[in-house]
Amino acid sequence: MSATQNPRNQAVIVTGAARGIGRAIALRFALEGARVAAVDILADELAELCACETALSRIVAVEADISTPEGAREATNRALEALGGHVDVIVNNAGIEHRAPIASHEADAWRRVMAINLDAPFFIVQTALPALLAADAPAIVNIASTARIGFFGQPAYDTSKGGLVTLTRSMANELGREGVRVNAVAPGFIATNMVADDPKITAIGEKQVRLQPLQRMGKPEEVAAAVVWLASSNASYITGQTLHVDGGWVRI
Ligand code: NAD
Repeated sequence: MSATQNPRNQAVIVTGAARGIGRAIALRFALEGARVAAVDILADELAELCACETALSRIVAVEADISTPEGAREATNRALEALGGHVDVIVNNAGIEHRAPIASHEADAWRRVMAINLDAPFFIVQTALPALLAADAPAIVNIASTARIGFFGQPAYDTSKGGLVTLTRSMANELGREGVRVNAVAPGFIATNMVADDPKITAIGEKQVRLQPLQRMGKPEEVAAAVVWLASSNASYITGQTLHVDGGWVRI
């Protein structure tokens, strides 16, 4: 078993790491001894993350916008540079939500959701592939959502996450023979800005969690634990899977 499968030695890229789930993922990897390139557009939050005690100089900020193929490629190259050209794990976490009914969904909002949630993971992996293939036990974890099954009033978001699950399987099939494991984590309602910033989503979340086996919202740290596990040697024979971290919400 290779030493680089242990988080202690991993070089990790996490997108959307300035806050919420991505921040918890970056901190959990750092806590376990990994070196993390934290990619985000939010400069102040990134600086605060890198300065916090748990980061222990293990997290380096890469301020970048991944909403275009060029931006995603540039962010990846800068993250690789920050990690000395080496990467063991990529966590495609950055994402945006947009609520709008089908009848009035704006074209630019549709395109932006797809660009950040679905296109960027593809271009990031494509750009990092030579470095990833040089790693001893490479792993990719894509942050999908329970919304992948198709909900109500957020068709772009749902479709982007469904697409990300399919991209996960597509990457797992193509890259598995080269030793790259690719999995997705699908969170349910997790208490982050994405939920708190939109009163409509907060209201839906509060109603929804009452119907779940575990009747509460999840914490970013609970998603981070699953991500770090999937990227570790403990999950060495697992690929192409989507792990729901959702309090038992989705049962298909
Ligand atoms: P969040 O809004 O708190 O954080 C998302 C992060 O992504 C932010 O730091 C933001 O700046 C960054 N980001 C957005 N656009 C970017 C861009 N163009 N370039 C670089 N960074 C960008 O959201 P969160 O709740 O932490 O969500 C993280 C991931 O988990 C997302 O993919 C989201 O879809 C998914 N998710 C969240 C929930 C939930 O309930 N919070 C549920 C299911 C899935």
